[in-house]
Amino acid sequence: QERLRLDKILSNMGYGSRKDVKKLIKKGNVKVDGKVVKQNSLKVNPYNSKIEVNGYLVEYRKYVYIMMNKPNGVVSSTDDPINRTVISILDDKYKIFEPFPVGRLDKDTEGLLILSNDGKLAHNLLSPKKHVKKTYYAEVEGIVQDNDIEKFKKGIILDDGYKTMPAELEILESNEISKVKLTIKEGKYHQVKRMFKALGKKVIYLKRISMGNLSLDNRLLPGEYRELTENEINLLK
Ligand code: URA
Repeated sequence: QERLRLDKILSNMGYGSRKDVKKLIKKGNVKVDGKVVKQNSLKVNPYNSKIEVNGYLVEYRKYVYIMMNKPNGVVSSTDDPINRTVISILDDKYKIFEPFPVGRLDKDTEGLLILSNDGKLAHNLLSPKKHVKKTYYAEVEGIVQDNDIEKFKKGIILDDGYKTMPAELEILESNEISKVKLTIKEGKYHQVKRMFKALGKKVIYLKRISMGNLSLDNRLLPGEYRELTENEINLLK
């Protein structure tokens, strides 16, 4: 397992900037395995060493779990030569955990995106066998009517011939621009847009509002994010 500089470990854990942490160490406030350490560059394995600051145990964590309200115009990949990525939005203190987006949203789709470095959780949410529900709010050009509910329920044949699994359509407003909620249990490329396209309608705004049992915190504006609570993490497992 990786050994990291003591000052890096502590700043990762929120004890301040590298400079702040260096002072803390120089002052003798930090112990490793029971002994005061004054060398900020000392390499320590954070997982199996006992690190204390002012007598309090520092619990180094392995995983980070973030919910983001993904903004329009940003791609959900870890790196991209042209576009801004969702990772670039994150504070350095999260980047060091090397989180990745759990699932993808199109560049112009907003809403719930989970970022984590927990591969097992990602697998649970993304495995096609698990059929995790994803709910989207969509604004659609064209009048979405009650008879469309049945069509979504039966499955829709996409442009490549694939027939979608039953999806749940809820109509919020039926108009020239209709407002709907759609819940799907799979994640084909551009799926929501292609489902409406198959019915001759065009999605002009798309936002994911939930994934599995987790809903987007509606206090998060596009581009904002926060860590998941313990309860929320458990909802995803
Ligand atoms: N369906 C889409 O068409 N786009 C997304 O970003 C997510 C689901």
